[in-house]
Amino acid sequence: MVVSKESPASALFEEGVVIAHVGQGIAVEHDDKIILCQPLRKLETVAVGDKVLWTLSAPGQGRIESILPRRSLLARPARNNKIRPVAANIDAVFVVIAVEPYCDFLLIDQYLAVCENSQINVALILNKLDLPVPEALENELRIYQELSYQIHKVSAKTGSGLPELKLALQKQTSVLTGQSGVGKSSITNVIVPDKNVRTNSISETTKHGRHTTTAATLYHIDNGGDLIDSPGVAIFGLADLNRQQLAQGYREFQPFIDNCQFNDCSHHQDKGCAVRAAAEDGKIAMTRYQRFLKLTQKMGG
Ligand code: GDP
Ligand code: ZN
Repeated sequence: MVVSKESPASALFEEGVVIAHVGQGIAVEHDDKIILCQPLRKLETVAVGDKVLWTLSAPGQGRIESILPRRSLLARPARNNKIRPVAANIDAVFVVIAVEPYCDFLLIDQYLAVCENSQINVALILNKLDLPVPEALENELRIYQELSYQIHKVSAKTGSGLPELKLALQKQTSVLTGQSGVGKSSITNVIVPDKNVRTNSISETTKHGRHTTTAATLYHIDNGGDLIDSPGVAIFGLADLNRQQLAQGYREFQPFIDNCQFNDCSHHQDKGCAVRAAAEDGKIAMTRYQRFLKLTQKMGG
């Protein structure tokens, strides 16, 4: 078949889902098969979870023509102040924390703020419940519960809470994220027991020897749902949130933001800031407010 560059519509395009980046190529899944695709144009922006149109260029090899519209996108900062899309069409992010190692709430608040701004549902998973939970951790978690963030309590070691978690994951496309050592891999291994089969078949299809899936891989959960697993902490960061969006990312700030005396309030000021006043009056948890200040400083403002 001759494919005219002028009218790509004459080529036979199929729809597929991006399941991993492999070296310079992109692993696309279509009808239970994995095809190694090259982007037709410079498509550096393709993310795991993207639905794409692709066409066969050689047996088992394809070429991506276009990315279909996304319903959501998570990105992380890359070189040159650019943003690299990492996961697309996600419904929910599950932030994994654990009884140990010590929970980095600055990171948690950052994840929550990004999700609030991306119209992605977000919930917490508290892992290692087979260990005694320190009171300080319980107190801090109560604040999130009061903000209506769901907390799934599990132990990957004993399996407690995992069937319920799996039910929640089966309804949608999710990303697990969190500090290293909290048990993300342990949980994924239970939810997706054939994880290694999948990574092996990606390596096999792409035949590039070294398996170089780095950023993220999309797995199917039996009985429905997809899970995007990403080794390493930074599947996404504050990316391009500005200070205002960061404040929008704090649910409990919303009733107070409009009452600030300054239009473009940074919510630092002593006088006239309704958010700060609410924190001082105990209507907003002081720990969350202080972490907000820290995050704005990190953003350079
Ligand atoms: P990841 O870095 O988030 O992927 O965490 P891992 O899954 O590699 O787990 C880190 C460590 O925590 C490993 O030594 C696991 O055996 C351990 N671990 C994971 N889940 C549990 C759990 O539920 N209870 C206990 N006690 N240890 C766990
Ligand atoms: Zn303010």
